[in-house]
Amino acid sequence: MRRRVLAFASTLALLASPAFAAPTTLPPASLATAAQLREQALADDTGWKVVESLTTEVGPRVAGSEADARAVEWAKAKFKQLGFDKVWTEPVTFPKWERRSERAEVLGAHAQPLTITALGGSPGGTVEGEVVRFADLAALQAAPEGSLKGKIAFVDYQMTASRDGRDYGNGGAVRSKGPSEAIRKGAVGFVMRSAGTDSHRVPHTGITRFDEGLTPVPSAALSVPDANQLARLVARGSTRIRLALDCGWNGEYTSQNVIGEITGRTLPKEVVVIGGHLDSWDLGTGAIDDAAGVGITMAAGHLIGKLKQAPRRTIRVIAFANEEQGLHGGKAYANARAAAGEVALTQIAAESDFGAGRIYAFNTGSPNPADSREATRQIAEALKPLGIEYAPNDGGPGPDVSPLAAKGGAWAWLAQDGSDYFDLHHTADDTLDKIDPAALAQNVAAYTVFAWLAAEADGNFGSEAKDVTPPSE
Ligand code: ZN
Ligand code: ZN
Repeated sequence: MRRRVLAFASTLALLASPAFAAPTTLPPASLATAAQLREQALADDTGWKVVESLTTEVGPRVAGSEADARAVEWAKAKFKQLGFDKVWTEPVTFPKWERRSERAEVLGAHAQPLTITALGGSPGGTVEGEVVRFADLAALQAAPEGSLKGKIAFVDYQMTASRDGRDYGNGGAVRSKGPSEAIRKGAVGFVMRSAGTDSHRVPHTGITRFDEGLTPVPSAALSVPDANQLARLVARGSTRIRLALDCGWNGEYTSQNVIGEITGRTLPKEVVVIGGHLDSWDLGTGAIDDAAGVGITMAAGHLIGKLKQAPRRTIRVIAFANEEQGLHGGKAYANARAAAGEVALTQIAAESDFGAGRIYAFNTGSPNPADSREATRQIAEALKPLGIEYAPNDGGPGPDVSPLAAKGGAWAWLAQDGSDYFDLHHTADDTLDKIDPAALAQNVAAYTVFAWLAAEADGNFGSEAKDVTPPSE
């Protein structure tokens, strides 16, 4: 008797637990269509044309700038032109930061200009002081309290290039944490070797933040050759520089996430989300960051939309607003889905935001990953002819879908080769000529195959709404 009760209880548990639901698989006919889509996408130049259009017609598009509004209009028109059945916008409000002018120079016996750019979020102001060089962030953190009084901190960390860009964790930390650390030690200004892997005279910008309770100081990045130059001067003896920035926060702005859909034929409320971010920094034309992501995913949606039969689920392509200054578009999208109780309707979500290099690995994840392992493996198999391998233990959500993933949305990881990404990232060199059309088409093929198969799957990828406190918004 006791035994039977236990058996009954465990049967109930089996039925109730998503871990024991039927595994998600892909219908053979959908896999056959995926193979056709893959070849078609490799021969198609829609992705390239979209990137060319955005970078040429809108150009640089800093969040909150006049070009931000033009980019939104551009994206609406482009979705319509590419045959998406439904196009709409959702508001995204954020503080607006403006760069007006920036200059730096060495003073005294070795007087000469330095090529710098203000970090996003920096206040304006002109400061002069003796430069104190630190090899990395840890060295600055170890400096005695008050030791930088009246001085300018210089963190000289050199980022290393790699396919997965892992050293951006260190380079990015200098940018995000360095200024506050310098202020705590008494500094009147902050400069850093750019978080970049090039050797060109192009500084890399990017957002920084100042810790609560500190008075922000002018903060800028030197180009890599200028960091070398400044390091040599400091090694010769006491070196003073002047940093003159005119920039700063200026009120609020409301931009838009621009969304286009290919409506699903039988499960239209369940959505495969793909996208890139529409904003860029202002120094280049935002080609690899992130017109590429917008072009790749718009083209993928377009190619699926051209099929005679619509996918089972909806393909939703999002051009996210203001990723650069704090994932504002991604957070707004996730908050809106959570408020509407729609997180679990996310079949899966992926953002392309690591340049335009070839995709080399694929994986998915969610709060309940076990049931979709087989489907993930099958998608990886369909991606294999593109030179993409299944990486079952790697990856995570792209930046703008990470707030949705934090709320329980399933994510996919299509890893791009970022070997040269940080040569160009956030610089004046981020322009269209750096994109290889064949590599871009490989990305479009991968996103098309992935989005199509995820939309066609028998079963889901384990999205489940989680009650979470949003990460320090
Ligand atoms: Zn980006
Ligand atoms: Zn960026």
